[in-house]
Amino acid sequence: MTVRLGQTASATDPGRKRRQNEDAFVLQPPLFAIADGMGGARAGEVASALAAGALRDMSAGPGGEAQVKQLVQEANRRVHERASNDPATSGMGTTTTVAVVQPDGEIAFGHVGDSRAYVLRGDELEQLTNDHSLVAELVRRGELSERDAELHPQRSVITRALGTDPDVDVDAFVVEAQERDVFLLCSDGLTTMVGDEQILDVLEHHRDDLDRAARTLVSEANRGGGEDNITVVAFELASGGD
Ligand code: MG
Repeated sequence: MTVRLGQTASATDPGRKRRQNEDAFVLQPPLFAIADGMGGARAGEVASALAAGALRDMSAGPGGEAQVKQLVQEANRRVHERASNDPATSGMGTTTTVAVVQPDGEIAFGHVGDSRAYVLRGDELEQLTNDHSLVAELVRRGELSERDAELHPQRSVITRALGTDPDVDVDAFVVEAQERDVFLLCSDGLTTMVGDEQILDVLEHHRDDLDRAARTLVSEANRGGGEDNITVVAFELASGGD
């Protein structure tokens, strides 16, 4: 099937508890990405900005999983190099979830950390990425219930990030897009405050106005407490026509 990109949207907000926004995003069709930085003294902001900058520099490549892996590894290399050479940023890191829409209608994803990608298809919301977090790993191993994970004191501890090592293990996969799919990339500042059902509600309700959907998701996260920076990027696949 031929598909083309339809609406695109983004929204970002520091939330209600943090002064700085250490999230970054890329909305550069056909490339979309989220990065959620961490590290003391604003180093998180440096990490997420470096990763986003590396992703924006994407040049034409082989496409598919190989290309997104390469892309995320290059972002990792840049963050790690800076962290190794600049003591002020030592130990910084960032998550990254990136999507590249290919001309054939496939979407290649690369993912490290606990930001997420979802797809709204029909009237169902599906989480496409696995969180690389301590609690998510315990849930996957059956050692913790999803409900306990939400309240776990170490729920923000991530097990994989860009920048902390010279090499990073990247989850890469391809999704065949269908007409009317809406894809959502978001930082954990959304998903720790807003449940999947509520995300589904907002996306369905504002499916024809993704800007509004993005802004509403951010407001809902703030209404839920806004404990972290909140960033969302959304894009829709429309029919290619002929
Ligand atoms: Mg966060």
